[in-house]
Amino acid sequence: MAQFVLNDTLTRSKREVYAEDGDTLRFYCCGPTVYGPAHIGNFRTFIVQDLFRRVAELSGLKTKHVRNITDVDDKTIRESLKEGKTLGEFTAYWHGLFARDCQALNLLPPHVEPSAVEHIPEQVALIEKLVSSGHAYQGADGSVYFKVSAFENYGRLSHLDKRELKLGVSANDSDEYEKESLADFALWKARKPEDGDNFWESPWGQGRPGWHLECSAMGMKYLSESFDLHAGGVDLCFPHHENEIAQSEAATGKTFARHWFHSEHLMVEGSKMSKSLKNLYTLDDITHGRRDGVEGAAPGYSPAELRFEMLSGHYRQKMNFTWDGLRAARINLERIAAFAHRLEAIAGGTMCNYDTALSIAKSGGGDAFSDAWAALLDDLNTPSALGRLNSAMKPLEKRATAGDVDAAEAGELLDGLAVLVHAFGWELPAVGEPVAAEVPVEVQELAEKRTAARAAKDWAASDALRDAISALGWQIKDGKDGYELTKSD
Ligand SMILES: [Zn+2]
Repeated sequence: MAQFVLNDTLTRSKREVYAEDGDTLRFYCCGPTVYGPAHIGNFRTFIVQDLFRRVAELSGLKTKHVRNITDVDDKTIRESLKEGKTLGEFTAYWHGLFARDCQALNLLPPHVEPSAVEHIPEQVALIEKLVSSGHAYQGADGSVYFKVSAFENYGRLSHLDKRELKLGVSANDSDEYEKESLADFALWKARKPEDGDNFWESPWGQGRPGWHLECSAMGMKYLSESFDLHAGGVDLCFPHHENEIAQSEAATGKTFARHWFHSEHLMVEGSKMSKSLKNLYTLDDITHGRRDGVEGAAPGYSPAELRFEMLSGHYRQKMNFTWDGLRAARINLERIAAFAHRLEAIAGGTMCNYDTALSIAKSGGGDAFSDAWAALLDDLNTPSALGRLNSAMKPLEKRATAGDVDAAEAGELLDGLAVLVHAFGWELPAVGEPVAAEVPVEVQELAEKRTAARAAKDWAASDALRDAISALGWQIKDGKDGYELTKSD
């Protein structure tokens, strides 16, 4: 099988994706800050990371995927206090909604999903190491800072020179803490009155960890001090990932992550995403057709269709989301589904599931669409893969319709198609059915209230909400990664 190569931000070149330990590809993705609904720009990143994992697995690699939950920072603290909730209640609610959306988008759940609050001791231990090695110091305000000048390689990932780094930091950093140099960043933030009850004890007094620290502490805990690949949106490259490298490598003297994988921004209808433009669309907005804040202003689309559109552009280029793009995604997805169903009818079976596709790919089968698959192995070139799949399908559709494809060939084509379908993570619509059963808004709202009640361990309210949902003709089922709504028979 061809090699899987992927651009590496550190070396600015395509490099082979492989497991250094010869067994498991260990990779870390920066996860969401859970203080509100994730928008489709966030989800573009997570969908691209999911594609990466699927292609890695289908190319024969075992994986260990860690994605963190940021559940303590300025925003989570501020918003939880505003709502009169404990930080834990508040973040559990938004984490629940994030998990629900991830499931709807068919994202493979990470093997470990650690949260910052659950890893305070690990973060404190890392700071202690950095203080004792002279890479960190306590400022006059009680906060502990990383001393950027004590780390030779700072700026290597973002390819900025020292002057640009300083400018970038002064423009980005709104923290008002006392530090020796503008570029230094907080590892431990001393307790402030506006933190409320959200503080922890440490050798440097009460406070909380700085945001950059958690990814180093949790990445090293679950993937070891040196691991294969680190992923995130391009906006995290500087300063977040630069800081992760500095504090990790200063502490261990080892390469933190061998390979850095960044995906570009999402634009919406040609504009930047922003609150004022009302285009920070959530998954709910997409499924309800809620455009520019108006419910039903556009047709509703399924998570699968959003996923299709998000992967229609290359991850290293800015992607322009449009509602027309979703319509095109629907047409394309339905065409692929119709083709798959025709092959199923001829072969007398159904398309295999993801696990079976993994073993088919491993045994060297499933190469009926090898051109399209090769495009995915070459830096996840999704637009090229889609173009090649389209070209390959055209004559086959004609032959299948003319009765010119026998059962054996249909079975082989179906296996090849399965490898692509599972790499892209598409859930194909069934024959003659709408792409997704639309969950009514009132049912969705009850389900979300129930998630909040469960997070607050209010079981009576949770049961009452379940009854209200079933009175509307829907059933709710809880899973590891959130709930699932199905229509009652
Ligand atoms: Zn991170």
